[in-house]
Order: sequence, then C-alpha cells, then structure tokens
Amino acid sequence: VLIPEHKIEEVLARVDLVALVSRHVELKKSGRSYKGRCPFHQEKSPSFYVTPEMRRFKCFGCQAGGDAISFVQRLFGKSFMDAVKDLAREAGVDLEAAVDPSARERQQLKEATDVAQEHFRKLLWSPEGQSARAYLSTRGLSDDTIREFGLGFAPPEWESLSKELLARGVLEFGFKAGLVLKRQKGDGYFDMFRARLIIPIRSPEGRTIAFGGRQLGEDDGPKYLNSRESRLYNKSETLYGLDRARDDIRRTKTAVLVEGYFDCIGLHQAGQRNAVALCSTALTAGHLALLERMEAKTLVLLLDGDEAGRKAVERLAPALLAGGTPTRVATLPEGEDPDTFARREGQAGVQSLLDKAEPLSRHLMQTLLPEGPKATFEGKMAALARLKPVTAALPVGLHRSAFLSALGQHLGLAAQELEIELRGKQPEPVRPVPKNPGMPGPQSSPGRVGAKTPADRPAKNVERPPDALEAFYAAMLLAEPRLQGMDVLRVGDELKHAGLRALVAANAQGVSPADLWDEAPEALGRALRMAQGQVPRDEAARARAFQDACKKLKLRAIDEQLRHIMRETAQLPGAGALLNEDTRRLQEQRVELLALKRRVLSEGTGDDSGTKASGTAV
Ligand SMILES: [Zn+2]
Repeated sequence: VLIPEHKIEEVLARVDLVALVSRHVELKKSGRSYKGRCPFHQEKSPSFYVTPEMRRFKCFGCQAGGDAISFVQRLFGKSFMDAVKDLAREAGVDLEAAVDPSARERQQLKEATDVAQEHFRKLLWSPEGQSARAYLSTRGLSDDTIREFGLGFAPPEWESLSKELLARGVLEFGFKAGLVLKRQKGDGYFDMFRARLIIPIRSPEGRTIAFGGRQLGEDDGPKYLNSRESRLYNKSETLYGLDRARDDIRRTKTAVLVEGYFDCIGLHQAGQRNAVALCSTALTAGHLALLERMEAKTLVLLLDGDEAGRKAVERLAPALLAGGTPTRVATLPEGEDPDTFARREGQAGVQSLLDKAEPLSRHLMQTLLPEGPKATFEGKMAALARLKPVTAALPVGLHRSAFLSALGQHLGLAAQELEIELRGKQPEPVRPVPKNPGMPGPQSSPGRVGAKTPADRPAKNVERPPDALEAFYAAMLLAEPRLQGMDVLRVGDELKHAGLRALVAANAQGVSPADLWDEAPEALGRALRMAQGQVPRDEAARARAFQDACKKLKLRAIDEQLRHIMRETAQLPGAGALLNEDTRRLQEQRVELLALKRRVLSEGTGDDSGTKASGTAV
C-alpha cells in the first residue's frame, strides 16, 4: 500500500512546482518566489507564494501550504496516494518498479499466514476440532480465552491446509512461510502442522506472523513445533502474548516473563495481563529492547518450582544481567507451573507470589549457594563454575562490578579475587547474541570481529527515520484516526518525512493500522513505536497533545520559512537594506510569516482558524 519514501522524494524532485501551479494560478515573479491569487480561498490581492527553491507553496491568507503533492491534493480533493500517482505519471517516475522485493515477499507471507490462521481457527470450532477443544477444557481454558488468543486446530490429514492454500492461490507463499513442505518424491506439498493444537504467534500489533503447534495424541514428532523464521517472523524479536499484554505492561511498567505459551495464556485468563512468553528460544537483547519499548521498567521471571525452573534462571540470567533491566524472580511451589498455579490461586495468588519476588542476582546466589560465606571451599568453587557463563556475558561496567561485589559478599571473597577466578582463561567478551550463530570458522583471529554484515539484507535505499515530533503526530493518528479532523492547519501536508506522510494518508483512508505497522520500513516503524509510548491513553489528554503537536509542527514550518528568507536576504546585494525590490518582497513575506506565527501562537488551533484553513469550500 505504501509508496517508498525515496520514490516520493524522487517525484517531488522531478516535478516543476511553478509549472504545475501556473496551470491553475496566474503567477508573477516576486524575488526568488512567485506570487499569485490563492486558489484555495477568495482574495483580491495576492497572498499566495510559490518558492521553487524550497519546493513549497504558502498562502498567508488561509494558511494553506505544502508541496506539489499537497497542492494537487487540495486543488482536486485527491488522496495523497492518488496525488503521488498523478504526479509520478507526469514526471515519468515508475512507482511500480519501486516495490521492494522484500516487501513483496512479506506481503505474500502475510497472505498465506492469514489463510492458515483462519483455516486452523475454523477447524477448531468444527466437529473435527472436538478432541482439541476437549484438551483445551482439561487445561481450564474458557471459550473467550481460546477466541482471544485465536487458537486453532490442525487435523491429522496430510493435505488439509495445503488444499486450502491451493484453492486460495497462495500455496507457493505457504511454502515460503514454512506452513507446507515439499514432498520428497514426486511433486506436491504436505502440511507442516498435523494433529496439533495451533497457537498463533502475533506481532505486537496483533497480526499473526507464525504458529506454534502443540502435539495432540500420540503422534511422533516433538511436543511443540514452531514455524520457521521468515521475513515476517524473527523469533529473537518476538514475545508471545505481547499483543495482549502491551497495555498492561505500559500501565504497570512491569512485564512477567514465562517460558510456555500456555503459561502465558493461563496467566492472562486469571487476570495477570502483563505476562509474555518466549517462543521456544533463548532470551536475547532483541526481546529486552522490545520490552523496553513497551516501557517495562521491571521484569519478573515466573518459573516452575523445580530443577527445570532453576535451570531456566541460569539460562536467562546472562542476557538479563547484561541488558541491565532490573529483574526479579518469583518461584512457584515445587511441582507447579504458572498455568496450573494461576488457575487454582487466581490473580490474587499470582500477585502475592510476584510481590515476593527477589532480585535476580540475589536469587541466583541463594539458589546456587544457600549457605553463603559459610559454605565449603569446594561448594564455593562449584557455584562459581556455574556462574561463569553468567559473568562471562556481563560486559565490563557498572552492572558487572555491582554483581561481582554482591557475589563477593555472598561468598566471603574479595571482588578482585573473584574477577581473577572467573576470568581463568580470558573469556571472550559476549555481545548481544548475533543473529546467525551458525557461522562456521575459527573465532580466534582477532581481525574478524564485527567484519561481517548480514548477508540477506540487500543494500537498498536506506530509509531515514522521521523526527520525533512528526513521529509523535503520526503515532497519535494511528492510535486514533479521528484526530485527523482536529488537524485544522493541515500540518499533515507539511510533514517533512515523505514516508510518514504516506503512512498518515493511508491511515486517513482507513487502511488498517496492523497493515500499516507491517509495511512501515524499519526506521519508520522503530520511530513510531518509540513515539507510541508517549501517546496519552486518556482521550481528552490525547486530543490536547495532538493539538499541541499540530501547533508545534506549524510553528516549526513557519520558522523554517523565516530562516529561508533570512538566508536569501543575506545573499542579496545590499543585504539588510530595504533598497531593492527583492529584499522588499522578502520583508513583506517575513512580516506575514511573523503575523501568522503570532496568530498560531495565540489562538493555537482553535475552531476559528479551522473554518478558514479548510477553505477549499470556495
Ligand atoms: Zn489562501
């Protein structure tokens, strides 16, 4: 849906704005600008300027402003997309060629995944899904919960999904998504998930991007099977349940991390709605960054009360301590898992357990060496040996020294001694886990570190991120499209980031936010997610914040024009003096801009300016 930013920039660069406007407005040269009677409101004396150098037009009468795209949009009442297409055709820019192959592949994966999601979901509620539903009720899941998490069922047949994908014309895409596999003999495909309960894995925005499948019955194969990674699904940057948990994580500033899908679902059903789970993978810096974006200030690990749970703490600790996120550990009674515990004890029980959680480092030391300084020498050495992977992951710095000094106290050893003991053989500094661990070859040659770039990222037109205020403006519109009506100054037309403008425009046209999130290029998506955290939850506060952002953006655009005028004035011969025609024109514009600025500052984005600004009515 979205036209890439660089293509929009190309269109804007190629279109001759003066020529375009001249077809509809009689323009006269005025210094380096052109002046005419505004086509957007009725006026006798011209106050409409086109400044080719800035590729912008501006009316001081009705405050209309923008570039070639905004001009076409306003004049013909066209959508942003249509305006870009018209201008591209005229300027000879091929938009079709711009579609990035990776975006196309993502689109294909999405189509196949959507078909599969619906297929599995339908089957669960059909007579065929009876056994799966029975299984779910033994786990105590209500129908509402099952629907909320979009659970599904894959029957034992070999070609249930394959046939559906074929019928919908997306079988090949299903293969790319790893949902069907190629037969070894002959041609044709068969289903990857068979006789399994299907757990959709979703993006934070709620789109299904992969599946987990839990074995039902006695078939062979692993208990859990997961979709393979794709352009849609990167498991080291995905947390299960985050789409359901994000609001509560933001509210409580805390995320509860569990290991299994059903632990997560069970906690949500019990009312503990800030729980997320790892998707059968190690905890990475990517997961922690994701939680940080959701404003989780604290992490609580809720783990089984047995050896597996203890092992899990040791496994998770390196990334957590290295990441520096304050983490506490809540341990369940022996033999319990979060799911069964939540079902029996309810949210109050879970909460009191979470309240008792202790800091990760203390927990780690207590479980490894409960006797503390009184332990035997051998005991201490054994505990240290188990802690080596943890300390090896800690980069030199505050977290490391704090951890070592706490550890020293616990063991009754000096921190320096510990450092030497733990170093032993020089540990390689562990950085955030690399994405392609399968890279073979010697690690020792020192010159190679960091020399590699991921092979599957084609070097293409790098999208730049928008600035924070523009991103904030867009994030509010994504959260609440109706706010668009309050942008009476139409600052949306003047956004400097073309990609963001395309997104805002698509949003205004009713393209679903989930699709927009998906399609936003990485740089844009990241900026938007950051901004998303700042969007007020309260409706009235959000409206105020939006008006405020509009005002600031407008003021910024005005200031930019003022600076432009300053620069031009300075370049003219006899700078500063009101001697020649050009400087006089510029001064006029400057006075107008300053007046406009005062107006915006005083009346903000009040209704009064609103009726004026929507002046196409003439
Ligand atoms: Zn006007």
